[in-house]
Parts: sequence; structure tokens; C-alpha cells
Amino acid sequence: MAQRVATSEMPGELLSGYREFVAQRLPIEQARFAELAARGQSPKVLLIGCCDSRVPPEVIFNARPGQLFVVRNVANLVPPYRPDGEMHGTGAALEYAVQALKVEHIVVLGHRNCGGIRAFAERNRKPLSPGDFVGRWVSVLQPAARLMGEEGLAEVGLDEAACEDVERYAARLEVASLRQSLINLRTFPCIRILESRGRIQLHAAHFDVSTGILSWLDPADGRLMPIPDNAGQRDPFAPLRGTGCTCCADSLKVSATSAGMASPAGDTRQYDPNSTFNKA
Ligand SMILES: [Zn+2]
Repeated sequence: MAQRVATSEMPGELLSGYREFVAQRLPIEQARFAELAARGQSPKVLLIGCCDSRVPPEVIFNARPGQLFVVRNVANLVPPYRPDGEMHGTGAALEYAVQALKVEHIVVLGHRNCGGIRAFAERNRKPLSPGDFVGRWVSVLQPAARLMGEEGLAEVGLDEAACEDVERYAARLEVASLRQSLINLRTFPCIRILESRGRIQLHAAHFDVSTGILSWLDPADGRLMPIPDNAGQRDPFAPLRGTGCTCCADSLKVSATSAGMASPAGDTRQYDPNSTFNKA
């Protein structure tokens, strides 16, 4: 009886998903779960990602239980170090990952079409609630917007005709935000010290939801470079999609051109069944 009540209260997709997990993945991972339970976790990577349901870090990196220590927040932001006695969820995750788990890498993972970034870009719009929690949270982006220069702000329009400008601005801000998050990470004394001793490395990456392309921020020039998969492909979906998405091509135009690469939109390489993306 108790079992019937519990399952009837569960959202259907969670119930069916859990049952599939028990039937398919748990048998494979059971020994690993048992070992993790006995020995505790020791992930090497802290990943700071967005709450967006389309950007699950464990799926993108094909991670197993225990591999990634993940904190997700709206727009994958890292606020600067501020020991003011208030409650800081991302700061708590950072502190635990660095000081207790002693992770060796921190990765900030941004993504294309981020609603949180868009909320900042359209910050003249009405708050979602009187508390305006989203608005206050994404104000962390202000230094990144300033780094982009005032001309970036001038591009932002709020009427329908200016929608494309807002999208372009938001896409640029997604990248500027990653650079700012790396700066903010270094305001945490423990991270700054460990990085100077070579015991921790900071990274930023960007995932394009529409293409599956992961790009890595080049620390030398601050630009995103697409990561090739095992077969050397950069856009695993391009041969299947037929035509490219112009907004995605636009977002990668600078980095692809600078590296002498073809735009993903024009990619005609063959579908590779061994691609990491295609296996996922
Ligand atoms: Zn997002």
C-alpha cells in the first residue's frame, strides 16, 4: 500500500526514469556506488554550470558517479569573494570542493541561449516577482558587461525589431561572463594561492545546445575554440542536420576564422558512429 502511494505521487517521467536507471544503469554502476559509499568521493573536477535543463554536465562529459562535483546556478555565475556573513551557495560549493575535496580543476561551463544571460541583457523588463531574485543574481554580470564596452550595451534594444541585436549581445555576454567568472574565482584567496602553487587549474567552456559543440576558452587570447571529438569532428550533428543554424555559426565565427577552420554551418563531414556525442 505504502509503495502504491509513493509511486502515485511521483511525477511520471521521474518514476519511469528511475525504473530505467534501476534496470539498465544501476547494474553497471552498482559496484562503483558501493565503493563510493564506502570510501567517499574524490572528484578531481569542480564544475560550475547553469541550472538550464538542456545543459547537464554529467551527460555532456559522459561522467560516471563520483567524477564531477557539480554546482549549478542561474547563468553559471561565480560571484566575487565576499565574506559578509550572508548565505552564498556557490561560495559554499567552491569552499568545500577546494578545501575538503581538494579538486585539481575548476571548470565554468556556459552555454548558448542562456536564459539567465538573456535576463541581464533585457534587464529593463519587469521582474518575475517582487523579490526580483533573478535580476539581483544576474547583476553579477555587470563587470562582464562593462568589460565588453559600452558599445555592447548600445546594441541592446527591447522591441521586437531589435530581438536579433539582443541575441547577439547575449551571445557575446555569455563569453564575457566566462572570463569574468575566472577573474572572480581568483578573488577567493584559497583558489588564488593554490593556482599560484600549480595545484589547481581554472578553465571555462561553452556548450552549444543546438549543435552539441563544446568550446574551450583559450587562456592566452580569451577566445572559445571548438573541441574536436575523437574523429576530429567539431560539429557532430552537422551532417545529420543538413543545414546549419545561422545564429550558432555566428557565435563561433570569430574563433573558427582565427583558427582557419570552416564554419560549422558549412561542415559537410560524414556522420561518425564512433563519435562521443553519437554514443551519448
Ligand atoms: Zn543558462
